[in-house]
Amino acid sequence: MLATVIPAPETVLLDVEGSTERFPVRRVYCVGRNYADHAIEMGHDPSREPPFFFQKNADNIYNGETFPYPPLSSDVHFEVEMVMALSSGGADIPVEEALSKVYGYGVGIDFTRRDLQDQMKKMGRSWEVAKAFESSAPVSALVPASKIGHPQEGAIWLDVNGTRRQTGNLNQMIWKLPEIIAELSKLFVLAPGDVIMTGTPAGVGPIVRGDEITCAAEGVGTLTLKVV
Ligand code: MN
Repeated sequence: MLATVIPAPETVLLDVEGSTERFPVRRVYCVGRNYADHAIEMGHDPSREPPFFFQKNADNIYNGETFPYPPLSSDVHFEVEMVMALSSGGADIPVEEALSKVYGYGVGIDFTRRDLQDQMKKMGRSWEVAKAFESSAPVSALVPASKIGHPQEGAIWLDVNGTRRQTGNLNQMIWKLPEIIAELSKLFVLAPGDVIMTGTPAGVGPIVRGDEITCAAEGVGTLTLKVV
C-alpha cells in the first residue's frame, strides 16, 4: 500500500441486515420535494417540475442510535426518507435499467437546520450548512434488493416520543425510484457506493434534545434514535 502524507480518511461503512459484510459509502445525494404534500407544506407547487438534488457528505451517514443536536441552529427538523444504495452506476442510465443498479434499501432521516436553510433560501445561497452537517443522515441497516425487491409502495412514517408526526406512502413519490436514478445520472456519473435519499412526506417538524424518534419504511426497516 502506498504511503500517504496524512492519514487517509476512513471509508464510511453501513451495516447490511443479516450479513457480516458492510456497504461502503461513496457519495450521498438527496431529492428535494419528492412528495406532493411535503412540497405544499413548504410553500411550493407540487406539480411535476424537473426533480432537484442536493448532497450531503459521505461521512454524514451512519448507522446511529443517537443524533447529536448540531450547533448554530434552534430549529432542527426531521425528514424521514427511504434510502437507496447503489451497487453499480454510470451516466445517462435508462429508466428501464435503473433498478438493476440498486444494491438495497434502508430508512433514514435527512436532518435539516431549517432556520439556516430558510436564511440561505432568502439570500439565494446554497444549502450545505443546512443539510450537510455532522451526523445529519442516520440510516438503518441496509436490506438487499435481492431479498425484498424494490419497494415502491408501502407506509413511510416517523414518530417522536410515541406520537405519529409524518405519514406517507412510498407510492406518493413524484419521481419514482428508477426515474430518480435516471435523472441523477444525467447530472452526475453514478458509481457503486452512492446513496440516494428519496425525499420526505409531509409532517416535518422540530426536535429537541431528549426526544426519541422512531421511523420506518414498510418492508424495508425501522430506525430508532435518541436526540442528544
Ligand atoms: Mn429531505
